[in-house]
Amino acid sequence: MQAIYFKEHGGLDKLKYGRRSRPEPGPGWVRIALRASALNHLDLFVLGGLPGVPINLPHVGGADGVGTIDAVGQGVVGVEVDEPVVFDPGISCGDCEFCLRGEHSLCIRFGLVGEHCEGTFAEYAVVPASGLAAKPSHLNWEEAAAFPLTFITSWRMLVSRGCLGPGETVLIHGIGGGVALACLQIAKAMGARVYVTSSSASKLERALELGADAAFESGSEVVKDVRKATQKRGVDLVVDSVGAATWSQSIRSAAKGGRIVTCGATSGPNPEEEVRLVFWNQLTILGSTMGSRSDWRRMVEFLCVAELRPVVDSVLDLEQGADAYRRLQDGAQFGKIVLRNSA
Ligand SMILES: [Zn+2]
Repeated sequence: MQAIYFKEHGGLDKLKYGRRSRPEPGPGWVRIALRASALNHLDLFVLGGLPGVPINLPHVGGADGVGTIDAVGQGVVGVEVDEPVVFDPGISCGDCEFCLRGEHSLCIRFGLVGEHCEGTFAEYAVVPASGLAAKPSHLNWEEAAAFPLTFITSWRMLVSRGCLGPGETVLIHGIGGGVALACLQIAKAMGARVYVTSSSASKLERALELGADAAFESGSEVVKDVRKATQKRGVDLVVDSVGAATWSQSIRSAAKGGRIVTCGATSGPNPEEEVRLVFWNQLTILGSTMGSRSDWRRMVEFLCVAELRPVVDSVLDLEQGADAYRRLQDGAQFGKIVLRNSA
């Protein structure tokens, strides 16, 4: 099969387009003939090499994908060949303390498709059958490839961890990235009031078109803007995946008793923490990573009922994979960068 792969870690020059052997599904796994895949920041980290995360080389990246069932591993039931499917990119062992509790993203052996095994930037990929879901019928192939990782991450942040309630106020930093946009769409569909930040005027404008209630330019004025928009109260929930650059604003933008949920630190992992504000305002700081299989099922159901469509920035052919990585690295995208396979 054709794939985008790399033989050693490094920059974009390490990416190759060429032949790789087609993966075989082990017990409990299925093989998908992929129609489309989508990029995540994770793919850049995996290409560059992650400390403490050994990756077998050569490697095919890609956590998100959609296609039809092509082959079924031993013990898999209730799955039909040729069925159009999406899948939860999370891989969990199923029998550790946390899996037994239903908290699959806390699994002591937790991994991701495209990180701990070969991924979706290829014509075929193998994935765990336990994470399959029918392809949402209101989405085309490119849209269906674009939602799984960012929407399960966002669902867990807002709903399972952040306990977002109707009518609450949410601040989302760095609108334009996949997770931030998915959070905006889910939070609006849940009836929340949503404020967003970005350093790009055009991204702020597009977020307003997508339903954001107000859009603020990134920087030191954000706290003032939030306080003004909320009659000095602050927001109930802050979604921060930016880290060092926004953390202090997040702490200062939260209402008394507010929650701050983080799933990443794209600007750096070591912000200055204002502990006094955390205890005095009785803030709750929540970490979140991917989601459980239950989060996945509820999120897919919600996406279908609310007819949410992930924002697709651009669609490239699989062989243009290196250009897609470059677009993500440059950070100019608004929404997901999708790779399309020829049918
Ligand atoms: Zn486990």
